[in-house]
Amino acid sequence: MILAVALVKRQDDQTLEALQKAIELSGGFEDLKSGTKVILKPNMVMRGFRNQPSHGMVTPVETMASMITLLREHGCNDLTIADGGVIHPDLKLNTSTAYRWAGYNELSERMNVPLVDLNEGPFVTVEIESLPVKVARLITEAEFLIDMPVLKTHNQTKVSLGIKNLKGIIAYESKKDCHRQDLMRSIALLGRAIKVDLTVLDGTYGMQKGPTGQDYHKMDVFVAGKDILEVDIVGSHLLGYDPAEVEHLSIYAELADRSLSLENVEVIGEKINNLAKPLEWYATWTKDLMALHKIKGVSIEPPDSTCCSGCGFGIFVAVSNFFQANAGKDFGNIAIVMGRQKISDQDVSKVICLGKCACETNSSHPNIVKIPGCPAGVKQMTERMFSVNGE
Ligand code: SF4
Repeated sequence: MILAVALVKRQDDQTLEALQKAIELSGGFEDLKSGTKVILKPNMVMRGFRNQPSHGMVTPVETMASMITLLREHGCNDLTIADGGVIHPDLKLNTSTAYRWAGYNELSERMNVPLVDLNEGPFVTVEIESLPVKVARLITEAEFLIDMPVLKTHNQTKVSLGIKNLKGIIAYESKKDCHRQDLMRSIALLGRAIKVDLTVLDGTYGMQKGPTGQDYHKMDVFVAGKDILEVDIVGSHLLGYDPAEVEHLSIYAELADRSLSLENVEVIGEKINNLAKPLEWYATWTKDLMALHKIKGVSIEPPDSTCCSGCGFGIFVAVSNFFQANAGKDFGNIAIVMGRQKISDQDVSKVICLGKCACETNSSHPNIVKIPGCPAGVKQMTERMFSVNGE
C-alpha cells in the first residue's frame, strides 16, 4: 500500500507557510468539509522548572496558531484544543499549568479557541484486549481529530510521536493501568482503537533523552500525513531509529498487519537523510546526578516503562534533593528503585522503594525501606530518604 507523507523544512521561521505546504502535500484537508468540528490534540507536558523554555517538550504555540489559521481559511471555525497532561499535585503539574506555561492561555484568548483538560472527562470505556481503558468522550466523538505531537525521543518508549501522543486522551487511572499491564502494547492498542484523521508532527526541535528536559536540537521540520503509522515511521527515521526497533510501533504494525519499511511510504517533499538528526533516547539523569554530586555506593536506574509519570516527576525532584544534600557521600551499597524495578541482590544493605509499585515488587527483600503512595509524595520521599540515609 502506497500512501503519502509530507516532509517539509521550515525556512526563516515561516511556520504558517511550512505547515500549509505540509498539509497540502499530504492532502491532509482533502476529507475535511467546511463547517466540521475539529479537535486539536497537542502534546502538553511540563516539569517543575517553570523558568525553562518549553522547546521540544510541547507542541509550539506558533504551530497551533498556524493550524487554527489554516483551518479557519478552510471554513472550519468550531475548533477545540484538548489534552490531558501529567498530574502531580505536589509539583503543581497538571494540564492547566502546562497550557499556561507553554503560552496556550494567551493563544486561546487571542484566537478564541477553547482549551479542554481531558483529565477531567467525561470518559467512555474502551476495551483494549483485556484492559478497560477510560478514553475522553470528546475524542471518541470527534468529527475530525488532528493529532499534533512533537518530535521526541522518550526514556521509556524510545520515540514519542503520533501514536504515543494519544496516551494523553485517557484518564489518569487508566494511564497507571497501562504502565502496570504492558505499556508498549497498551499504546499500540490505543492507537489502533482511536481514529485519527490527520497527524502533524512538529519538529521545530528534536528532543534528546526526552520526553522533557533541555536537551533540544533545532531541526525545523514538519511531517504530515493522514496515516498515523506512516508519520511515525518517518519521525522515527528523523530521530535516527529504525521503527522496527521501537516496540510499540512494532506491535501496532503487527496488529494492523502492516509493514514498518520506509519502502512502503511515499515521502513527498524533502529527503529524510538530509534532515535526520540521530538523538539518544536513554535517560542518564540518575548517573548524571550522582556524578555531579560525587555520590558513591548507590544503585539507581531511571524509571523504566513500569513507572508512570505521576511517580517519575516527583522521584526526580526527591532524588535530586537527596543527592544534593549528601554530596560527596559514599553510601556503601544501597539501591533506590521505582515502578516495578526489582532488586534481588540480598547483599544490598537497603532497598529504598519509591512508590507503591516498588514496595510491592520488592516486598520480600530483607532490607526494604518502604515509601508507599501512588504516587509517593515528594515531601514524603525526601523526608524518609533523609531519615534513613541522610546526614
Ligand atoms: S506507585 Fe507510582 S508507578 Fe506505581 S502506579 Fe502509582 S504512580 Fe504509577
